[in-house]
Amino acid sequence: MPDQQPTTLPVARSLTLLSVVAPMFNEESTAERFYERVCAALEGISFELVVVDDGSTDGTPAILDRLAASDPRVRVVYLSRNFGHQTAITAGLDHARGDAVVMIDADLQDPPEVILQLLERWRAGADVVYAVRASRSGETKFKLVTARWFYRLMSTLSDVELAHDAGDFRLMDRRALDSLLSMRERNRYLRGMTVWVGFTQAAVAYERDRRHAGETKYTLRKMLRFSLDAVSSFSHVPLQAATVLGFFFSLVAFLAIPVVIGLKVAGSYLPGFSTITIVILLLGGIQLIAVGIIGEYVGRIYDEVKRRPLYLVRERRNIAEHEAPDEPEREHAETW
Ligand code: UDP
Ligand code: MG
Repeated sequence: MPDQQPTTLPVARSLTLLSVVAPMFNEESTAERFYERVCAALEGISFELVVVDDGSTDGTPAILDRLAASDPRVRVVYLSRNFGHQTAITAGLDHARGDAVVMIDADLQDPPEVILQLLERWRAGADVVYAVRASRSGETKFKLVTARWFYRLMSTLSDVELAHDAGDFRLMDRRALDSLLSMRERNRYLRGMTVWVGFTQAAVAYERDRRHAGETKYTLRKMLRFSLDAVSSFSHVPLQAATVLGFFFSLVAFLAIPVVIGLKVAGSYLPGFSTITIVILLLGGIQLIAVGIIGEYVGRIYDEVKRRPLYLVRERRNIAEHEAPDEPEREHAETW
């Protein structure tokens, strides 16, 4: 979290509607329980629960249908296929109407009861309130180690200061959320983007529970993709590293030329075949790495300029036609 924040006047906010946004991907064993926990935790508060079904292939849509039919506060967005966690959250945020919006995982690892603490900080004037994991139970060792590396790498590489151990569980004020939603980039890394928007940021510590049921939906592949998105959307360091390496090796090569000429003139014999092979391999390798890094960014540029919608909605429940966000892509199209 940034140490230096703009000073703001203390405000006392009152809540008209709280939106709770939760993505679900094959969460049939948790969906119902999640709904109950949220309702119990937020008793007496006027809230809506925006659930995004991220192309589930199990019984999740049927359960959500049932919940939406019995409770008008449950509003469901069905995506046309699996678009991934970050995009699913974005779809939910697009449909949220509250003046404070909470994003939370639907697997009950983020206890819904913590929302009250987040709200407290919002009432006191904070615009973005993170829930920071004080402990993480029920996670594999592998996940904990990779997560730690990831946050360390990100804080070295990137321009925004990320709160360590803050997941996506956080509350945003309408003002900050609208700024976030105006960023329509495809490679979404919401944790970085919510910090980037600024405003007044605050943190609340909580104990992360184990998953209520089911398995993590983040496969190793998805985690890698997620990290690459994070690094490339908030840092140009990898690109610059390629340049620095390139300069360094060119310099070495240039220095070597007079040395080689000198040796030739002096008539000394150069039994350097193996050395040369090694050098060529090394340089070739470095060039390939550099090209690969550039390729990662170029690929992302290509994704951005295609200007495809971030997600496609198959169906909505308890969301009227006029409440659905119109394609934000089209508004921005003119600026190109
Ligand atoms: N999720 C999703 N789409 C995906 C993967 C996950 O909507 O492609 C949802 C999932 O249903 C859960 C949340 O995102 O509510 C977090 O996923 P998960 O618990 O699998 O991630 P982890 O906690 O292991 O990082
Ligand atoms: Mg989880």
